Amino acid sequence: VDPTFPARPKLAAHVVARRHLVSTGEGGDAVTLVVLHDLSTGALVQVGAREWGLLAAADGTRDLDGIVLAAAREGAHVRGPALAAFFEQLHAAGMLDDGVIPEREPAPAADDDGAADRPTEPLPGFALWCDGAGSCCRIYASVVFAPVEAARARALAPRVLGGGDRHERVFMPEHGSGPTGGAVVTSCDGRCAYLAETGRCALHEAGGAAAKPLGCATFPATFVDDGQRVRVSVAVECACVLASAERPDRDTPGAALLPEGVRARRHLDPAIAVVELPSHLGIAPGVVASRAEVVAWSRRALTALDELATGVDVAAALIALAAAIDGAGLDAPVAPALAEPPGIAPSLVAPYLAALHRHAEARARKDASWRAPRDLARLAVRWIADATAPLVDAGAVARLLARSPVSQRSELFYARALVHGHQLFGALELTTALRDRAARLLAARALHDHLATLGADEKDPASEHPLALVEAVLRGHGLAAYAEDVPV
Ligand code: SF4
Repeated sequence: VDPTFPARPKLAAHVVARRHLVSTGEGGDAVTLVVLHDLSTGALVQVGAREWGLLAAADGTRDLDGIVLAAAREGAHVRGPALAAFFEQLHAAGMLDDGVIPEREPAPAADDDGAADRPTEPLPGFALWCDGAGSCCRIYASVVFAPVEAARARALAPRVLGGGDRHERVFMPEHGSGPTGGAVVTSCDGRCAYLAETGRCALHEAGGAAAKPLGCATFPATFVDDGQRVRVSVAVECACVLASAERPDRDTPGAALLPEGVRARRHLDPAIAVVELPSHLGIAPGVVASRAEVVAWSRRALTALDELATGVDVAAALIALAAAIDGAGLDAPVAPALAEPPGIAPSLVAPYLAALHRHAEARARKDASWRAPRDLARLAVRWIADATAPLVDAGAVARLLARSPVSQRSELFYARALVHGHQLFGALELTTALRDRAARLLAARALHDHLATLGADEKDPASEHPLALVEAVLRGHGLAAYAEDVPV
């Protein structure tokens, strides 16, 4: 007996389980799969509905015998040795925890430093025109509902997967296998279960915009408290975001990022996840800057981006900015680096594009084994893998660098959204993040060219803006980790 095997096993908190209904294309029946995604390693493990019945009974309060009995009550029958063998496999893969681990309390808002009165600062000049094509409801690995949101959804659309009768037919725990605050909705061929065939949200149709979960209602806004302001920006992960940025002057008004009257953090819905910018941030290898220094730098960078001349290559500008910071830290002049960037050396970006291709290709092969052929996530990952495949050749990278951007306006908007929302600060140091984002711009240009070779019936409305597709797939499906795999 493995002495480290948990006495009362449960799925580890770093493992998220998602239920997928996948059309087989044979007779129209859908297969039910549960995919376990280990967020710490990126590993995916597929289990059937019956195995999930066993895991659902493993909530950290039962030993293996208790799990056999609890699962049998829910109709998932298994013999003890078979159950032990299944759980030992999960334990060997690092996917189990022991016992009930208390839910982490959300970090309290720092009232003592005046956080509640902190002014909000939305990305200037942006309003969203949603095209209603439901692209954002078809690309993400999960959509989280708070308990009251899940209950309301089941009441408003009870026939969706029979969720009106039983919560677990349409929702799973947000993470692990024990009870959690949030619940994630089942995916049907990659679509949120509540996305109607018309492309409209069934909850919105039945109960108005307020019936949607908060995450959907606030998408694509991002919220970061930097100690001076709450910066409200956008995730450039939906074709509508770039379509809105491309054509900001329309006859009908677009949706503002913040409702009228939301001028300070205390006016925001308390359930909105406001990210606190850490007190110190990684700038370059071995270089750290204070939060105040980062905020001051971002102001200079935004001014320089606003003044950037038409025709400047944004990818080259981001790389030049990284080089300037490598040399002189955040004190490096921003405007000259952005305004007159030298050409990009192929040898600098080739390792990024090669790493992105490796990650996308590996994921595309896995996806092909279980996702439905028209699942947008499967299509998008395959497109990115195919678009970046030729870029392992130095000549192809040089040709990509020699071509003009598809839209400087979109790329410039992307850079402004990143800087305004402090989105360049996360797992990577700033200089690596700048090079990573430049590589994404180049990958999106290659994706644009690849999509142009596809037939009309192979495309999707989401492919209108390849940069948004690259962004959605990288963050939503764990491919952003590619940048940590670039040899230094
Ligand atoms: S709940 Fe509605 S808006 Fe949210 S992902 Fe599902 S279909 Fe889209």
